[in-house]
Amino acid sequence: MRFPLMSNEERNNRVSSNVNTGHLTVYTGPMFSGKTEALISDVRRTSLARRKVLFFSPEVDTRHQGKIISHQGQDLENQTGIRPVIIKDFDDITLPPSVGLIAIDEAQFFGPDVVSAVELFLQSGRRVSVAGLDLDSKGAPFGVMPFLLGLADEVVKCKAVCMDCGEPATRTYCHAPPLVNSTVLIGSSEIYQAMCLKCWFENRQMDDFR
Ligand code: ADP
Ligand code: MG
Ligand code: ZN
Repeated sequence: MRFPLMSNEERNNRVSSNVNTGHLTVYTGPMFSGKTEALISDVRRTSLARRKVLFFSPEVDTRHQGKIISHQGQDLENQTGIRPVIIKDFDDITLPPSVGLIAIDEAQFFGPDVVSAVELFLQSGRRVSVAGLDLDSKGAPFGVMPFLLGLADEVVKCKAVCMDCGEPATRTYCHAPPLVNSTVLIGSSEIYQAMCLKCWFENRQMDDFR
């Protein structure tokens, strides 16, 4: 993958000399680990402080028709009054100065533009909260997430509960047959399960014999 940070020239063109230090929190971990709940909680706290929030979600995530709903059923808009902005990528985003928090869900589905955008948000002194899967169901780093994790001031590794043994789960297991040339199969508990490393590994080994 091309290294997605801005070049110095791009940076100079786009950022005024007035550079600030924002704050980036990344919530990561497997599916069902509470990443979206953590984002909704940050949004709620920011709204309590009467600051504006911009919440971005990728177009490719088609599970809830433009709504942000956690696996527990928490609905962003019902709970906070904030409506998500569904976008394909971050190439043309300008922020009103009053925005206190930029929240980004399912960040692993965005292209490299999300990394440059987050850099810009930070340089303009904003708080940014990002949620995204660290690993795909094959155990490989997921898209731009390693870059966002590198930029983060704070990384929260969320854990789910292993659906095989009940231990803390750090992995996502996919029940569907493997896709050719693709990591992305959108779905929920009918396709994916949270698992600990041991159970995930055993299930993957059994898959090899099927
Ligand atoms: P994520 O965004 O990380 O996929 P969500 O924030 O949408 O997760 O959902 C977390 C909620 O999912 C938990 O609070 C719990 O109610 C529910 N849940 C369902 N399956 C599991 C599981 N295997 N482990 C933990 N929580 C689960
Ligand atoms: Mg989520
Ligand atoms: Zn387990």
